[in-house]
Amino acid sequence: MTISRHALDIADKVEAFVRETVIPYEQDPRRDHHGAPLDELVFEMKDKAREAGVLTPHILPDGSHLNQRETAVVLIKSGLSPLGPLACNTMAPDEGNMYLIGHVGSAEHKERFLKPLVEGRARSAFLMTEPAEWGGAGSDPSMMKTTCEPDGNHWVINGRKTFITGAYGAKVGIVMAKAEEGACMFLVDLPDPAIHIDEVPNTIDTSMPGSHATLTIDNLRVPADQMLGEAGEGFKYAQVRLSPARLSHCMRWLGCCIRAHEIATDYACRREAFGKVLIEHEGVGFMLAENRIELKQAELMIDWCASVLDTGSLGTVESSMAKVAVSEALMRIADRCVQVMGGTGVTDRTIVEQVFREVRAFRIYDGPTEVHKWSLAKKIKREWKEANGA
Ligand SMILES: Cc1cc2nc3c(=O)[nH]c(=O)nc-3n(C[C@H](O)[C@H](O)[C@H](O)COP(=O)(O)OP(=O)(O)OC[C@H]3O[C@@H](n4cnc5c(N)ncnc54)[C@H](O)[C@@H]3O)c2cc1C
Repeated sequence: MTISRHALDIADKVEAFVRETVIPYEQDPRRDHHGAPLDELVFEMKDKAREAGVLTPHILPDGSHLNQRETAVVLIKSGLSPLGPLACNTMAPDEGNMYLIGHVGSAEHKERFLKPLVEGRARSAFLMTEPAEWGGAGSDPSMMKTTCEPDGNHWVINGRKTFITGAYGAKVGIVMAKAEEGACMFLVDLPDPAIHIDEVPNTIDTSMPGSHATLTIDNLRVPADQMLGEAGEGFKYAQVRLSPARLSHCMRWLGCCIRAHEIATDYACRREAFGKVLIEHEGVGFMLAENRIELKQAELMIDWCASVLDTGSLGTVESSMAKVAVSEALMRIADRCVQVMGGTGVTDRTIVEQVFREVRAFRIYDGPTEVHKWSLAKKIKREWKEANGA
């Protein structure tokens, strides 16, 4: 699929909005005690995005999505500030959740749960991971211990969840739980007295409102018509969400690294040491040159994977490869930006240190690098066996 002129125009508008309106908010002190932006700040920026015509820019007024290649050009621009995706409503987990409800939800689900998200009036959370100390699902989703049991025209859910981004303050939740038929997904209104937030730990990243909560679900009763799709198909739907959600993280954090590289370049072109500007010292110039090369490689990897998704493929393998390649490249890029800027690089005077922290967490969520490589290695072995009749 091609990238339309319309999508490029949207990307230009988003870039102008982020650079002119969002970047000045980077110094806004309205943060919670974890350092994450408060909802008051998020919804103020969303109001400005609505006025500027760039709220939820990847979903068109008729409810259709830009294709994935087009989504990439728009989401990369929204990522030029860590606050950009929050302002434009292209942030995780909402973006992935909107995609999932849009693809699997019924008309009623869309009206009740999707509409407030698309309109930027509410936040959502995706409840899959479970605490390691409880022996629940982490890298291995088949270890899911949260259960759901039918009871009349309701389901009753019990279990624990952890690292649930944005659960604190969210209005919509997508809960995964295990029934006799297999994994199920439910749409729930949040907050609910049956879902208790046990802890919101401090984490290395600080971009996501509500941070990442650990929860106990105690006899949560959900009407049967709030099941997303069919019982037992939960992992299949998780796959529907997974590839585009992984890729959109790559897009946003690529945008952030492009900006960090701009800031580091500006520093290296102004700051002098040993009689010349830093960029003229080969050690610094080469770091910026390597950044330029890896930024382009990341962009191409995203575009390649997006074009696979645009064929209608689930793109599970391709998004795995893209996630590893992009997150690892962005880590190296962010690290070089910090290094080029010396002491300034580790202060909060610029977003460079935050980008470094955010990208570090990104190497873990949506599948740690090693899990993607492990599953790729299994595929390589399978293909070898097929090819060799072994
Ligand atoms: C910032 C952040 C936000 C998150 N948001 C959400 C959310 O909104 N909703 C949600 O449901 N979850 C969320 N998660 C959870 C995330 O998906 C899990 O952390 C991730 O799947 C890893 O699970 P785990 O933490 O239990 O690690 P574990 O499963 O304990 O794995 C630990 C490490 O073991 C290694 N490992 C595991 N398996 C293999 C293997 N087969 N081969 C080689 N090495 C392996 C990897 O290096 C891995 O990092 C978030 C996590 C973070 C850090």
